[in-house]
Amino acid sequence: MTLRFGIDATVATGGRSGRLWTPHGVVETPVFMPVGTAGSVKGVDPEALAGVGVEMILANTYHLHLRPGEDVVADIGGLHGFTGWRGPILTDSGGFQVFSLAALRTLDDDGVRFQSHIDGAHLALTPESVVGIQESLGADIIMPLDHCPPHDATGGDLEAAVRRTTLWARRSLAARRRPDQAMFGIVQGGVDVALRRRHLDTLAALPFEGYALGGLSVGEPLEEMYRVLARVAPHMPGDRPRYLMGVGSPDAVIEAVRRGIDMFDSVYPTRMGRHGTVMTADGPMNIRNAAHARGAGPLDPSCDCPTCTGFSRAYIRHLIKSREILGYRLATVHNLAFMARLMQNLRRALREDALEAFRTDFWRRYYRDVPPPG
Ligand SMILES: [Zn+2]
Repeated sequence: MTLRFGIDATVATGGRSGRLWTPHGVVETPVFMPVGTAGSVKGVDPEALAGVGVEMILANTYHLHLRPGEDVVADIGGLHGFTGWRGPILTDSGGFQVFSLAALRTLDDDGVRFQSHIDGAHLALTPESVVGIQESLGADIIMPLDHCPPHDATGGDLEAAVRRTTLWARRSLAARRRPDQAMFGIVQGGVDVALRRRHLDTLAALPFEGYALGGLSVGEPLEEMYRVLARVAPHMPGDRPRYLMGVGSPDAVIEAVRRGIDMFDSVYPTRMGRHGTVMTADGPMNIRNAAHARGAGPLDPSCDCPTCTGFSRAYIRHLIKSREILGYRLATVHNLAFMARLMQNLRRALREDALEAFRTDFWRRYYRDVPPPG
């Protein structure tokens, strides 16, 4: 076993805190993984990531396969050597990007053919090639190629995606060569709870080291995702990490943690930061707003990140309005610190059996008068 997972506290709603031991260090769960699309969390170097409490990052297989290519990465020491990030890394399968970015896809049971969004080159991914690419990249956790259908897919299309994802899951397991990497199974099924439960049962019988929910947060209303989580998460294998892919807004993270999810990834905090929206204890704040033009104080007085201890709102607003790289970087660093602190607070609340009170307080302050979902 390449990965060890232990739970140290659970609460009545199913939420749990624990630890994940990987070849590149121990991660406390629930954990949020910032996304390093092309092998970098945009604008933030590894030392700064670690400095604000980031424990683990995600890198995109699709992007790294297209550029610079996994052989280059492997030659320079794998992702850890290539990027300088020494902590745990998870790589996705590239499937989601093929379905969302690439042109002219054709899909069958063998895999997916597509044109690169960079130079139009004709490429193909199969379950076996995706495992091979991720073995070259060398992340701690790798993901099998899955078929992620659009959120409005129904009936036969959803069934077909589930069937194909299972077929590919088995082939991915058979293709593994590196014993030091863990692989998670990806459960599909849209918002059809019965189909998801069936798919989960099928995958749970296979030797995956963890389980992920894919195909959520792809455009369906959040209430739908919460309904699926409440009815599916409790049935995921309790002794394996549970990963909700592509989710990173505070509301969705809190609700999913409450239902027993352990791992998250999303571009949400970094993309928001680059667009000038900073996350504060009192809710999201648009730093471009004229009200901050002469703001001498920090983005968030309760934050101790390097951005908040060193720079004024007026300066950060000026930088972002002037499209200065430093502005994007400072806002991103702050948002990553905010997320790391949210996860720390969630872990503490889980261990102290105080998650419900934390949730009520957070929703009241961050989302003002919007009540948490029922
Ligand atoms: Zn800050």
